[in-house]
Amino acid sequence: MNFDLTEEQLMIQESARDFAQAEIAPTSVQRDISAEFPYDIIKKLGELGFMGMMVSPENGGAGLDTISYVLAMIEMSKVDASVGVIMSVNNSLVCHGLEKYGTDYIKQTYLTPLAKGEKLGAFALSEPEAGSDATKQKTMADKDGDYYILNGMKNWITNGINADYYLVMATTDKAKGHHGISTFLIEKGTPGFGHGKKEDKLGIRSSDTCSLTFENCRVPKENLIWDEGKGFSFAMNTLNGGRIGIAAQALGIAEASLQASVKYSKERKAFGNTISNFQAIQFKIADMAVKIDAAKLLTFKAAALKDSEKKYYKEAAMAKLYSSKIAVEAALEAIQIHGGYGYVREYLVERYLRDAKITEIYEGTSEIQKMVISRALLDEK
Ligand SMILES: Cc1cc2nc3c(=O)[nH]c(=O)nc-3n(C[C@H](O)[C@H](O)[C@H](O)COP(=O)(O)OP(=O)(O)OC[C@H]3O[C@@H](n4cnc5c(N)ncnc54)[C@H](O)[C@@H]3O)c2cc1C
Repeated sequence: MNFDLTEEQLMIQESARDFAQAEIAPTSVQRDISAEFPYDIIKKLGELGFMGMMVSPENGGAGLDTISYVLAMIEMSKVDASVGVIMSVNNSLVCHGLEKYGTDYIKQTYLTPLAKGEKLGAFALSEPEAGSDATKQKTMADKDGDYYILNGMKNWITNGINADYYLVMATTDKAKGHHGISTFLIEKGTPGFGHGKKEDKLGIRSSDTCSLTFENCRVPKENLIWDEGKGFSFAMNTLNGGRIGIAAQALGIAEASLQASVKYSKERKAFGNTISNFQAIQFKIADMAVKIDAAKLLTFKAAALKDSEKKYYKEAAMAKLYSSKIAVEAALEAIQIHGGYGYVREYLVERYLRDAKITEIYEGTSEIQKMVISRALLDEK
């Protein structure tokens, strides 16, 4: 077992940190207030290779491993978790699935510009009545010659307004239940395809989240990803990798909470002493640090298993479950350490709490992660 990062991984971490501090940090507070999408930042991230980190160079990506991706996600999310989720959806939910299951045509036409950051992707599984139970897809895709005709609705879709390409799960054969779900790649601007208004969210406010609608939307059969009936497996396999990205997003928020707490506790005075001299504060900081390290180990383990092409779905669920939990706890403790100043925007930690909460909900709620983990254990021979 080796806990050392490679030269390349250290370099990625450093360049992600430098970019986040120089290009993202100055506007993150304003974008949280205005809920404005970070167009310029995402464009620059693409130019630097951060939007297709794990895609092979032949498909336009940076050809890096999942550990590097985790390191970059932590640095971006430490400064702005909205940027983190935009980056995560493009990397793990869109590019990864297209590289693994797309045809050469799909890779050349869609994956390459996505991996280069010239285009942005979205992943549309959730529906008003199909969230945790994603098997209950009501969006229909009926075959009509060389096309599929889509009708239905998706909701809560990250990058829903600003994406160029959308991976959409829809039912091609109702009688087959979840074995009758398929995945399609749909371009923005396709007639019959629209989106709703940007949701006014508690946190990750500058990322966009909205519903999608399909009314007799014709999609060429070449844009079917993998095979008919493989859409549910596609979604679940893709989400396994996605959960590592969300664990890293949560870790970034938790680390930011700890750093802010250490800094503030050494500055703030009470009862003639800096509050870092009080054991109650010291223990909070120690507890935060231990939990962050444990979460990091879980996340790196899942990433390392994925990189060595071993089974990792249980470990990815564990990493997301624990990292999201401790991100919420760390943000709450950071507010407590900041006292009244923690409750106002100026000191950032209140945003960390608002941003952290979503990591316990999307890409499978914490309850769903526990189902994945317990099923894996109970099914083990
Ligand atoms: C900001 C944001 C961004 C999102 N981005 C995307 C995206 O890009 N693409 C996408 O497809 N979706 C996205 N989602 C949707 C997200 O994945 C779902 O909200 C999530 O999976 C939960 O589904 P739900 O909201 O329908 O809750 P429900 O499934 O209705 O769950 C409600 C509650 O019941 C619990 N519950 C449900 N079933 C069980 C069970 N069997 N046992 C125990 N407890 C259970 C849940 O854990 C939860 O606490 C996003 C959501 C948000 C808020």
